[in-house]
Amino acid sequence: NPYLRIGTQLTQILRSHGLADRRTARQRVIDMLARVGLPDPERQFGAWPHQLSGGMRQRAMIASALIAGPDLLIADEPTTALDVTVQAQVLELLERVREDTALLLITHDLGVVAGYCDQMTVLEQGRVVDSGKTEALFRSPGHGHTRDLIAAAPRVDRGEPPEPVATDTVLSVGNAAVDFSDLRAVDDVSFAVRAGETVAIVGESGSGKSSLVRAVLGLLPLSTGRVVYSGDALPTRVEQRALAVRRDLQLVFQDPVSALDPQMRVQDIVAEPLVVHEPRLDEEGRRARIVAILDRVGLGEKFQRRYPPELSGGEAQRVCIARALVLEPKVLVCDEAVAALDGSVRQQVLALLREVQGDTGLSIIFISHDLAVVRALSHRALVMYAGRLVELAATGALFNAPRHPYTRALIEAVPVPDPVSAPRPAPLAGEAPSLVRPPPGCAFHPRCPIAQAVCSEESPNLRDVGGTQVACHLAE
Ligand code: SF4
Repeated sequence: NPYLRIGTQLTQILRSHGLADRRTARQRVIDMLARVGLPDPERQFGAWPHQLSGGMRQRAMIASALIAGPDLLIADEPTTALDVTVQAQVLELLERVREDTALLLITHDLGVVAGYCDQMTVLEQGRVVDSGKTEALFRSPGHGHTRDLIAAAPRVDRGEPPEPVATDTVLSVGNAAVDFSDLRAVDDVSFAVRAGETVAIVGESGSGKSSLVRAVLGLLPLSTGRVVYSGDALPTRVEQRALAVRRDLQLVFQDPVSALDPQMRVQDIVAEPLVVHEPRLDEEGRRARIVAILDRVGLGEKFQRRYPPELSGGEAQRVCIARALVLEPKVLVCDEAVAALDGSVRQQVLALLREVQGDTGLSIIFISHDLAVVRALSHRALVMYAGRLVELAATGALFNAPRHPYTRALIEAVPVPDPVSAPRPAPLAGEAPSLVRPPPGCAFHPRCPIAQAVCSEESPNLRDVGGTQVACHLAE
């Protein structure tokens, strides 16, 4: 409840169950806030929900579920909306909770199942198709659906990423900075994207990923720096850019359902960019293009007359991709474009992007917090922390030999769908820093396991270490 302080909400639970009087309730709530790992529990008692980060809010929710001492805690996708680092912290907390409460965990993430569950039950279309000990089911799944789910689960610890491409640069960003009144969301970031290349951008919430690509697209003004496309420096605002440039740079959003107008038919949604950018195309020509692109994204003609509420999440995201691709852009920006999709649908959408790239030489900028997907899809990846670029490398090098401690922490925090041989995710302590008052020196130093005195005094510059661009005093 956004209108009640955290302490008030938890106290109400104790009082309504008759578990504490006014005097003792406060202390019990503070003890519970400490138990779920909220820093400074006395202060959090008086905090409003909006004053907590996503991870802290989820801890407060777990505290409210535990405060009455339940025998069973049902956690429904408790980490789906969280960053991988916060997810690892919350899972570690749930693991501790299990010492005195049974846990029923509902998740689509098989890495989470493998790491934390003794038993698993697989549902398909409302029916139980498999059930048993987690290890045994992973070793020999009884049902084809379980086998497919396990096979489709991407892994951060293995698989060959695509080889780097050696084509010409299509788009480059130089010393980009984005400011929001008193905070700097993106600070001095430079990178380039080549023809037919996928460049991934990873980092926790608030690291500046989305602000960076919005500035690239001209949807947010750059404070300093430049975006160069096809050799020309672009105006920073999209409305000042030539139509031909705007059609070449397209965007796919995270949530397909809210990115589509529910009152427009699929055919009109996909036609809209053609009406703007190719006004001379006649009705017949437009129809042919729409049918062709719907075929291309695996939907086909029969979807033309449907409305977005009649589509599944995967189908809706294909419509978004069709709308972005109908203009045959040169650069496609995907902002968490597969984050809201289930495992097998996600694999299909990723396969579609790879296929289109193979056929057309499309360049893709792919923002994702899912490192297993980044490993499978991208040629190069850049890691952002507190608005700055901290590591940029070929994807293989980044995953096999990460240079920056933050990159290592991100990779180690990902649960691997292997209950037998994969190590448990290792949570990165602490919260992402405030951009209003970032820590002095290296912004990562309060959380860095290998920080030295110099780290809190001097900000490390980005430099080349063994072919990787990295900003860390101790990268060697
Ligand atoms: Fe850690 Fe220091 Fe490197 Fe920053 S500069 S990542 S604090 S070792």
